[in-house]
Formats: sequence, C-alpha cells, structure tokens
Amino acid sequence: MSGAEPLDALVIGAGPAGLMAAEALAAAGRSVVVAEARPSPARKFLMAGKSGLNLTKNEPPAVFAGHFSAPWMVPLVTAFGPAEVVGWARDLGIETFTGSSGRVFPRGMKASPLLRAWLARLGRAGVRLRTRWAWRGFAENGLLFETPEGPRVIAPRATVLALGGASWPRLGSDAAWVPWLGGQGVAIRPFRPANVALAVDWSAHMARHFGAAVKGVALLCGAARGQGEFVISARGLEGGGIYAVSAAVRDGAPLAIDLLPGRSVAEVAARLARTGNGESIVNRLRKALRLDPAKIALAQEWARPLPVRPEALAGVLKALPVHHAGPRPIAEAISSAGGIARAALTEELELTALPGVFACGEMLDWEAPTGGYLLTGCLASGLHVGRAASAFLARLDSKADLRSSGAKTERNDGGA
Ligand SMILES: Cc1cc2nc3c(=O)[nH]c(=O)nc-3n(C[C@H](O)[C@H](O)[C@H](O)COP(=O)(O)OP(=O)(O)OC[C@H]3O[C@@H](n4cnc5c(N)ncnc54)[C@H](O)[C@@H]3O)c2cc1C
Repeated sequence: MSGAEPLDALVIGAGPAGLMAAEALAAAGRSVVVAEARPSPARKFLMAGKSGLNLTKNEPPAVFAGHFSAPWMVPLVTAFGPAEVVGWARDLGIETFTGSSGRVFPRGMKASPLLRAWLARLGRAGVRLRTRWAWRGFAENGLLFETPEGPRVIAPRATVLALGGASWPRLGSDAAWVPWLGGQGVAIRPFRPANVALAVDWSAHMARHFGAAVKGVALLCGAARGQGEFVISARGLEGGGIYAVSAAVRDGAPLAIDLLPGRSVAEVAARLARTGNGESIVNRLRKALRLDPAKIALAQEWARPLPVRPEALAGVLKALPVHHAGPRPIAEAISSAGGIARAALTEELELTALPGVFACGEMLDWEAPTGGYLLTGCLASGLHVGRAASAFLARLDSKADLRSSGAKTERNDGGA
C-alpha cells in the first residue's frame, strides 16, 4: 500500500459513514483502504445496538428531513432516507420492523449481525480494512499514520475523513483531528454535547428516587412542548424525553415540566380545592391528583415550599421549573453538535482548503435527535461523499488521459 501499490482512495474511520463511503468507492471500481485506529471497526455502531439499534424512522421524507439542524443535510437524507436504509439492511440479509413510535430496528435489535454481513460484503468488493492504523495528522508528502509496524505516510489520490464526532471518545471518536485540520485552514465549529442528560445537584431527599421512571409528563422547553419520559438518576435527568430537549436547553432555553399534561390548571386547582384543609400537601397531591412519589419529590425539590392555595399550587404543578446544572459532559452524550463547518466544504463535501479530501458523518457540523436520524444522516453523507470522491477520481483519470494523449500527439508530431 506504499508507493509500490497504487491506491485510489483512503477512507479514515470505520464507522457507518466511512464504511458507506468505502462501499460507494468500491462500487465505482476504485481500490479502497479503510484505516481504523481501534483494534476493530464500528465500535460506536455496535454500542448503539446494545440498547436496540434504531436504524431510521418510518416518516414521510419531508418530515424526516425536517429533524436535521442543517438545511444542507436535507437533500442527502432525502436521496438516502428511511426507505433506502431499510432496503440497504434487507440487501444485507437483515429484516427490520417499525416500532409503535415509528422507529425502525433490525428484527434482532442488534448491530453485530448487520455489521458482520456488511464487512463481508465490503471484503468481497475488494475493500481492505486496516485496524490499529491511527491517523496522526499531515506529513510533508501525505497523511501520517501510526501502525503496528511503525509510522507510515500514505498519499492516496482521494481521501475520505469519517472520524466521527466527540461523544463517547473511548469508542474511537476522540476529535484529536480538530487541530490538524484547523492547522490546514479548515473552519471547525466547537463540539457541544447533543442528545445528552442534564446534570442536577440533588438534595439528599432525592436519593431514594434514583432509578425512578417519570412517565406521562410534558416537557416545556422555550416555546416547544412535547410528551416525554425520563429517569431520575444520581447524576441528574436522563432518557429520551430529556435528550429531545437537550439541544434547546444547551443553547439556553428554560425547561419546565407539566406533571399533569392531561388536565388544565383550572381542573387541577378544582381537584386540589376538594381536598381537606387539614391534609398535608403530599397527601393532597397523592389523593386529589394521584401523583406518584417520584413526581411529588420533584415538585418538592424544585418548588419548595409548595404553595397552599389550590390555584397557585396547580400553576406550579403545570409548569414546574427544572433547576439543572446544564448538560452532562460531551463524553457521555449520545452525539455531538459542531464539527467541520459547512462553509469549509463544497457541495460535494470536499474540503475547499484540501482538494481531494472529503468528509462525512458526525464530524460535520449538523445535529439531529435520537430516533434513527443520526445513523441515517451518517450513512447518507457517507454515500454522498463516496460517490463524490469517485467522481473526483474519474475527473483525475480523464485529465491524465488527456495529458498522455497530448504527449503522444506531440511525440507523433515530433516523429513526423
Ligand atoms: C450509546 C449510543 C447509542 C446510540 N444509538 C443510536 C441509535 O440507536 N440510532 C442512531 O441513529 N444513532 C445512535 N447513536 C449515534 C450513532 O452511533 C453515531 O451518530 C454514528 O456512529 C456516527 O457515525 P460516524 O461514522 O460518523 O462516526 P463513528 O461511528 O464515531 O466512527 C468514527 C470512526 O473513526 C475512527 N477514528 C477516529 N479517529 C481516528 C483516527 N485518528 N485514525 C483512524 N481512525 C479514527 C473511530 O475509531 C471510529 O471507528 C448512538 C450513539 C451512542 C454513543
């Protein structure tokens, strides 16, 4: 793979985005190597499968695409959206099913059978995977790698960067590349946690509610309101309902919880007014409103002393302000926002500062909620970039053909 062995394309990062780019390049007849720093590929993809691999969401294309923060992702996830993801999994022998929320999973829920089938197909297509090959930045004449055989410099004709974002760095996406690309003039927006739990400094009273699931509430975040569930943990609030609002909270929106979304303030107040004046507040909440212990504990934690008057108490329960200490660290987040800025890329997702170098997946500056949007976005951008890099190589080939036919003509002329 050094100078002696010609290499069309080098993909760095064997996550879903990089593998998809490699597949598109191989399909165009290109010689492809995938370099991966970790001892095995797609560790985050496998981790995603531990809690049920949510591949995509069964939604009309416009609704689906509307969940992406970056408008430039829309054409990509429209070209390769939910239907295409399901078809891609089926071609790999993995049947999927749609859950009640519209989320799409492999029948077996896991990532490993899908990954095994995919790696086998890539191998048959000629894609060579090099594990424990860690990219370490730029050398004078190529890309510098640390490999089990020592340092190596590779100079492929086209490069695809698919290094992931900055969450869960122990699975490989450690964002070490930020200064290397920054040093080449590539604009990079700071990484921030996305789909992340919120930290809460609980009082000692809350310890007995750690692990409790809070269901049937609405989360009020700025102007947005959504049904949601979450779990109270020692570190704060986690789970789908919290992840869904975490980007807005991270960006400064206040968060409140409606503990009784099915009833109006007036209805809640009327029920409270019917309870005896001699009752404790806890008993009134339990008897009149059937609030469970975890919800009562949250109300006491964040709005103590609770007002006695029914109307005032109802107002608190319908919009309980969440006193949190911001998002948990990015290392714990499901995904990250930030990364290579769109302004640093052409429409083909080629870096304007580094012609012939393309980028895809979570290392680009877009974000989306959980629900299968992230994996679909990574697969879609990987495919887009793999095809764009193939087209780039075809252009290089035709320029080389022109040069060699020009040289031949000159030689012929010379001989005439
Ligand atoms: C716990 C968890 C559960 C998730 N569940 C879901 C889900 O159900 N559905 C969903 O849509 N999304 C889910 N996600 C998010 C999804 O897994 C990611 O968005 C996706 O894996 C990102 O793909 P990627 O290819 O861009 O990057 P990654 O998957 O992070 O892959 C990047 C690869 O690049 C390699 N790399 C990094 N630096 C170097 C280097 N210097 N040299 C060589 N290689 C390098 C890494 O080792 C890694 O293998 C989950 C994430 C987590 C953490």
